[in-house]
Amino acid sequence: MSRFISQKHAALTPYVPGEQPRARQYIKLNTNESPFPPPRRVADYVTAEAGQLNLYSDPESAALTRTVADFYGLRPSQILMTNGSDEILNFAFMAFGDASHPFVFPDVTYSFYEVFCTLNQVPYETIPLREDFTIDPADFCGVRKHIVIANPNAPTGLVLNLADLETIVRTNPDNIVIIDEAYIDFGGESALTLLPKYENLLVTRTFSKSRSLAGARLGFGMGSEALIGDLKTMKDSTNPYNVNRMTAAAGVAAMEENDYYMDKVRTIRAIRDDTAAKLRDMGCLVTDSHTNFLFVEVPGLPGAKLYELLREQGILVRQWNRPRIENRCRVTVGTQEEMDAFVKALEEIK
Ligand code: PMP
Repeated sequence: MSRFISQKHAALTPYVPGEQPRARQYIKLNTNESPFPPPRRVADYVTAEAGQLNLYSDPESAALTRTVADFYGLRPSQILMTNGSDEILNFAFMAFGDASHPFVFPDVTYSFYEVFCTLNQVPYETIPLREDFTIDPADFCGVRKHIVIANPNAPTGLVLNLADLETIVRTNPDNIVIIDEAYIDFGGESALTLLPKYENLLVTRTFSKSRSLAGARLGFGMGSEALIGDLKTMKDSTNPYNVNRMTAAAGVAAMEENDYYMDKVRTIRAIRDDTAAKLRDMGCLVTDSHTNFLFVEVPGLPGAKLYELLREQGILVRQWNRPRIENRCRVTVGTQEEMDAFVKALEEIK
């Protein structure tokens, strides 16, 4: 740290992303990317856009916003496209949180939420999940604080049903409820249907998982016009051209190729359920994943040890030395061949 770092950021502990190894070839099951490349149309649209990179991108991402709005039956003014969904989340903490407007979220969830709070100087509280890692919706009813819930949750893979989500949104009318739906295409009920009824609801999505565009960095938020207007103010005060030309073009192509992606989602779900069944047969503990990853415990083996042993066999997974989950590893669902290799490695480890 330099001696120039501002006081307000001196104690900031940044989010630690999963490894992106360059040297050795690993079976990479550590950052919940899709194992399938984007369809041809994405490359075609990106290539066509590359010739115009001398010009700034459209600060409104109008073509992409319209495409997404049409797809979800919303008005363009209810959508803000961002540089990954991490950016829309950051804008939300920036826009709505302050010393007298804290956030709450589960104790086991996407660890970036606490970093966004610290970065934006927003106080936060965590609410413990139940012993089985499920959320008790009653814990989030009428809390009088802003709320962020990943549904499905990460890294647990578990879902809350729509009725419970609605109760949470309805009982916190004077606070923002963010539902982070990064993994919703793989399972669970979207809160999108609640948008016409609740002006305090923000639903966030990403193109990084089910739409095979993690490297393009594209996400978005959907909410009431007023709420999206506030988030736009954050965007225009931070980085007006936040979505670059090639990524915006890739996003349009990805929406046009919806059938391709939904087919891949079905494949990933089938591989996920098949792998989970095999792991359970081997005596592993596996939560009921509604995502593109499995949250796995090998009884008697600390998570860090499991991580190391898998790594030695050329398989990269994600593990956190955090309370309650230190015995678990999060394993992205890859291709059938990759998951066969993972199961085989686990059989050798056990
Ligand atoms: N939310 C959750 C729950 C995630 O796991 C991730 C991926 N790390 C994100 C949001 C952000 O993804 P991206 O910025 O790639 O859209």
